[in-house]
Amino acid sequence: MTRIAKHESSTEALTYVSAGTPQAHRPDGGQATRIEPRTGVGFLLRAGEVLRVIDPMGEQVSDLTAFDAHDHREWLSSGRTIDYANRIYLRTGDTLYSNRSNPMLELIEDTAGGHDFLLTPCSQEMFAKLYNINEPRPSCFSNLAKNLAPFGITGDQIPTTLNIFMDVRPHAQTGELTIGPPSSKPGDYARFSAHRDLIVGLTACSAEKSNNGSFKPIDFVIETEHGED
Ligand SMILES: [Zn+2]
Repeated sequence: MTRIAKHESSTEALTYVSAGTPQAHRPDGGQATRIEPRTGVGFLLRAGEVLRVIDPMGEQVSDLTAFDAHDHREWLSSGRTIDYANRIYLRTGDTLYSNRSNPMLELIEDTAGGHDFLLTPCSQEMFAKLYNINEPRPSCFSNLAKNLAPFGITGDQIPTTLNIFMDVRPHAQTGELTIGPPSSKPGDYARFSAHRDLIVGLTACSAEKSNNGSFKPIDFVIETEHGED
């Protein structure tokens, strides 16, 4: 596996993980952490580190968002990323940009081969509007908001997420969207290198359409220059 270049970092004083989420410890480099079904985590990803997001059982979406660790007004932008890639399906080697057009992450390896960057994280309101589900239940939005709150990031700041492993296909003429079961197989993963210090929010999606009706976990690994496998 490629060695990761050593980067200077000034984040010693930053909190590593969000509070109140027992599974959300920042693991040692190379160790996998499990995000239990319909939950999420928030953590610091340093410049030069690599985040590996794994679908351990297959057919499970993970929503990812990111903010500059030092200035939360800069965040991962679906629009800018799609502008510069000039397509909606990201490939290995593509850069994910911020709202200020700065590189935040790079997709450096991808065994799944498909991720959506058009749709927002599932939410209580989405469940009500699209599926007439009105009882309170977890959502990617609520899980991101809860786990990013300890870093000072509010729900109103959460943008369109990268929906890792999500199968969203537009009709060529009408643009109508079809959501299919994720094509990811057990063990598929995507790896993202961090261009800067980031606060990352990551979920195991809570929408039935994002996991073929069976809620499942997501695993992730933070690969450091000392700890990648
Ligand atoms: Zn979701």
